[in-house]
Amino acid sequence: MEKTSELTKIKGIGPGRIKHFARLGLFSLQDLASFLPRSYLDYSKPVKIEAAEDGEPAAIEVRFIGPVKTFRAKSGLTITTVSISDETGNITASWFNQPYIARSIPSEPGCYALGTVDKRTGARLLRTSFSKELPGILPVYPLTSGLTQSVMRSAVRGALELCLDEVEETLPEEIRAEYGLVPLKTAMETVHFPKNAEELAAARRRLAFEDAAVLTIVLEKLRRDRKGQKGIAFNTAGLLDEFLELLPFEPTAAQYSVMNEIALDMASNQPMSRLIQGDVGSGKTALALYAMFIAAKNGAQSVLMAPTEILAEQHFTLLKRFFGERAAILKGNMSAPVKREVISGIADGSIIAVTGTHALIEGKVEFQKLGVVITDEQHRFGVRQRAEIGKKAESPDTIIMSATPIPRTLSLILYGDLDVSLVKGMPPGRKPIATRLVPSEKRIAMYRYIEEQIKKERTQAYVVCPMIEENEDLERVRSAEAVFDELKENLSVRVALVHGKLKSAEKEAVMDEFRRGEIDILVSTTVIEVGVDVPNACTMVIESAERFGLAQLHQLRGRVGRGQRQSECYLLTESRSKSAVSRLKFLTETNDGFKIAEKDLETRGPGELIGMRQHGISEFGAAALASDIETLKQARECAEKLLCMPEEKSEKLLKKAMRKYNRSLEDIVIN
Ligand code: ADP
Ligand code: MG
Repeated sequence: MEKTSELTKIKGIGPGRIKHFARLGLFSLQDLASFLPRSYLDYSKPVKIEAAEDGEPAAIEVRFIGPVKTFRAKSGLTITTVSISDETGNITASWFNQPYIARSIPSEPGCYALGTVDKRTGARLLRTSFSKELPGILPVYPLTSGLTQSVMRSAVRGALELCLDEVEETLPEEIRAEYGLVPLKTAMETVHFPKNAEELAAARRRLAFEDAAVLTIVLEKLRRDRKGQKGIAFNTAGLLDEFLELLPFEPTAAQYSVMNEIALDMASNQPMSRLIQGDVGSGKTALALYAMFIAAKNGAQSVLMAPTEILAEQHFTLLKRFFGERAAILKGNMSAPVKREVISGIADGSIIAVTGTHALIEGKVEFQKLGVVITDEQHRFGVRQRAEIGKKAESPDTIIMSATPIPRTLSLILYGDLDVSLVKGMPPGRKPIATRLVPSEKRIAMYRYIEEQIKKERTQAYVVCPMIEENEDLERVRSAEAVFDELKENLSVRVALVHGKLKSAEKEAVMDEFRRGEIDILVSTTVIEVGVDVPNACTMVIESAERFGLAQLHQLRGRVGRGQRQSECYLLTESRSKSAVSRLKFLTETNDGFKIAEKDLETRGPGELIGMRQHGISEFGAAALASDIETLKQARECAEKLLCMPEEKSEKLLKKAMRKYNRSLEDIVIN
């Protein structure tokens, strides 16, 4: 609460408003100063009535203003209107149920009428206000009840006045000149209150550049520090054959080639840092196991980190096959004695391979000799975690595995510190998942069909919903609980529910039953998103599919299609938005993760795609990055340059970057 009161330093903000700001996550002056506008209303130039465009904001220079009329419509609405003219035409400003507005309407020309043009029924100006001067470009912020745009605008202005002086410039002048960047302070102010479009563009560019430079300088520093370290040179001779004997299948060509890259990296005395990208189901787990196997054969420990406990459990089953008694799992909900035993086994080296969730990186675990660190489904793990785990030993080899295909330009920036391997294609015999868009009137029939299939073929199905409970605000969105109740009531198969609010033990129990085939239909939220592997499940239904990003839908449907059978994915939507429907159609046409990623980048920006927030990139930066890869590249180049200059040149940026990525791990939410 202490921090909260800081906002009352702003003129016009009393204690009563604080809670509204808090709901938007705004507690400090700094928070407000960096709360970025959702969009802008451009009132920087006067617009002639004739040329005003439908749906656009316009500032109209008032040449003549008619008398104010107030009347009651048949509907009961009180309508206030006034006619405004310039030399090109007339437009009517109107207000509903605001008779008091009449008092604020000027009676003489010589001012500007500001509003949004509506030409569908004559020329009308909506939400009109008047101003003596052109206000320039007005920011439009995300709001919550209890706040208006004008309160927000003046709060932001107040916050800027109070805290802008403390903002430190991070880039030396010659660098700013070289890349044509405005000062940071200017950018922070201008992004809220730009005078014109050019100024705004320059401010956005600087802020996007800043985000990217902060990120890349950390990565570049990590990379350089690592280069100076000595890694373990593992002996890999003859290990491939031994490993293949334990592996229940023959690797694909793509898997072989990545295994080769891993073995070469591990044999070298430089620490490996490799990103393995491969579509869902492409068989990345075997690659992780291979690295762990090489480590174990050399007497070194390895750790495989999973984003969820469900996944960690699944990995543990495999680890036991390869490492028997010397495999272990660590997770949040273990009893204290069991946990202690595992931790001491890791410390004395009796445990050689361990998997678990982020509980592992909480700093309590000491390894006897850590050789390999693998992070599965890395998009849930940001830079901070990468740096953190690297501290666990002198210089372990690291592998990061990702099922989120990232267009190459982006991955260069976000993973500039890593070498990249691609696992192309799928293991043999896999039939591509047939994906269909199901209109809502066919929904019931679809569930009947699935029920029939389950009974006939003894297969299983997932049903994924975007949220757990019903929510009044989102009436068209189906919740997991509602769908569960509905299916349980109407279908004569075994239905279960799993979601993120369940305790881990409960979740695991349900997943285990599903894995053993004791459940036919598993209704869930996205807790099953990553990595779950139940080959007998070959039907996936996604309710309210428009609520998900394409890359995420692609990940979800990757849960099926793991066995030999033809798998199916049904996308349900009640959305009538054309763009939503065409986005979903795209998924029915391709199974190529990279194409889907690019489409997502195009339609929703990179934020959704790669968890930009976890990389410390603001939504704003992310939006700018989507359209402007060039700025990204320059920021990366700039970070490299700075590190080669005398220390004082890079000091400020590096300090800011370290502050950003070194905060406690607590504020990272995983899943
Ligand atoms: P992901 O890349 O999504 O992590 P997994 O490693 O979980 O994929 O593999 C998906 C499924 O494919 C697993 O059941 C795995 O045993 C199987 N698999 C992987 N590689 C092969 C292969 N070369 N031949 C046959 N099956 C394979
Ligand atoms: Mg996996």
